[in-house]
Amino acid sequence: MRLDDFPRHPLTFGPSPVHHLKRLTDHLGGAQVWAKREDVSSGLAFGGNKTRKLEYIVPDVLAKGADTLVSIGGYQSNHTRQVAAVAAHLGLGCRLVQEKWVPWDDPTNDQVGNILLSRMMGADSRLDPAGFDIGIRDSWKDAIREVEEAGGVPYPIPAGASEHRLGGLGFARWAFEVAEQEQQLGVTFDTIVVCTVTGSTHAGMIAGFAALEEVTGVRRRVIGIDASATIDKTRDQVARIARHTAELIELGRDVRDEEIEVLEGWAGDLYGIPVDSTMAAMAAGAQLEAMITDPVYEGKSLAGLMDLVRSREIPADSTVLYAHLGGQPAINAYHGLWDPA
Ligand SMILES: *Cc1c(COP(=O)(O)O)cnc(C)c1O
Repeated sequence: MRLDDFPRHPLTFGPSPVHHLKRLTDHLGGAQVWAKREDVSSGLAFGGNKTRKLEYIVPDVLAKGADTLVSIGGYQSNHTRQVAAVAAHLGLGCRLVQEKWVPWDDPTNDQVGNILLSRMMGADSRLDPAGFDIGIRDSWKDAIREVEEAGGVPYPIPAGASEHRLGGLGFARWAFEVAEQEQQLGVTFDTIVVCTVTGSTHAGMIAGFAALEEVTGVRRRVIGIDASATIDKTRDQVARIARHTAELIELGRDVRDEEIEVLEGWAGDLYGIPVDSTMAAMAAGAQLEAMITDPVYEGKSLAGLMDLVRSREIPADSTVLYAHLGGQPAINAYHGLWDPA
């Protein structure tokens, strides 16, 4: 099947906005930097990148006659908040497993931000003490079984909607949306920078831009900035999902190894814990552009972008597109980073 043949249930207001980051560009003194904003493109509880993935999963949920979405993430998971939003929007139940992925000891960590929004939207959100892992967990299997035992029909959506057959399609489509916006704006982005953890956002983009290249001949770098701090798992998962998604949309060739570029250096030692470069990037985004990024994901990918532009690893004559994937609600649990001394 080609991408257009897969059923899609629209959950956004339309294409996410693309705009020039003029003051950040001037500050960095190299490549032109633009952003494409998944954080402001959906009316479902602040949106973000998982909403786009779910557009391709919802038709399968409805076809299977499920009545409860079951998913998993950290306490401050953006993904589970977006699953809760989609469940509310569709009138389905929602059971969430929220694990202690991040050793962030702020007492509000399991009370404010994303988890608060999920609770407001009626999700049955339960805490679990397990630590970070992007793989499939027992607690999640237990949650699925409990829904069944209660007479419900669960629809399991794994962490980040990544280990799902259709998980890469949303961001394969994103590539074609970028191409249309390039036409309208009269720009061409030779480099894309995106945060990667469970992998299907970056992987979908790799497959989508590869398919676009087959049509236009334009080659681009799609750079994933690791924020998992478990780089080997994330790189493997990106490669696997990119190849699977490419096959699904009938790319007609293998995804080349050099198309899978996951860079490390900005995650710090632990998922969810910011380091100095994260803090500097969040400050730059906020103070130069009023573009708010979070300490878990987008602050880390923005830090990567800033270093790559400054070092000319992304050349000065490049035009680079920063994929802003959302995530701002989590900053509430990280207020201590900005508390006045
Ligand atoms: C989930 C998420 C990511 C990572 O996307 P993956 O598809 O899991 O790699 C990046 N940024 C934000 C804000 C997210 O919520």
